[in-house]
Amino acid sequence: MPPKPYRFCPQCSAPLVEGMVDGRVRKHCTVCGFVRYENPLPVVVAIAVKGRQFLLIKRGIPPKKGLWGCPSGFVESGETPEEACLRELREEAGVTGTVDHLVRVVRREDEELYGDMLVVSYLVTVTGGEPVAGDECDDARYYDPAELPAYLAISLRDVVDEVRRRS
Ligand SMILES: [Zn+2]
Repeated sequence: MPPKPYRFCPQCSAPLVEGMVDGRVRKHCTVCGFVRYENPLPVVVAIAVKGRQFLLIKRGIPPKKGLWGCPSGFVESGETPEEACLRELREEAGVTGTVDHLVRVVRREDEELYGDMLVVSYLVTVTGGEPVAGDECDDARYYDPAELPAYLAISLRDVVDEVRRRS
């Protein structure tokens, strides 16, 4: 289930009402003036590569529990997106890395849990450590491009091509 809408003002506890604010219907508080601006959650993805292999984790928690994917997570306050990306890589897969470059920024809607997300993906070179699954993961290991799950082979196609072209 996506996040539940706010019913009460987080500042003064009065019931929120819906109405036009700044050109859009938004929940707001007629007592203290609080406006509930809804923004996507910032997510970073580490497309982590060592040689020509991709480091994937098996998700141990929703959303997409049980599926293999790239290490990912939310940017925390005070972090740059690059820092968050490398932190998630360490936490979920147990390795260190350096960011090569930005791959893409897209909007995703997670219907299971988080709702609207702004997803920022970086290509990362693994620089140290061996894969160890973090607390929220069931496994972590390297995949050859040819054995990537179909959904990843499609979404990572450009990156796979780029990594293949490297000498
Ligand atoms: Zn209020």
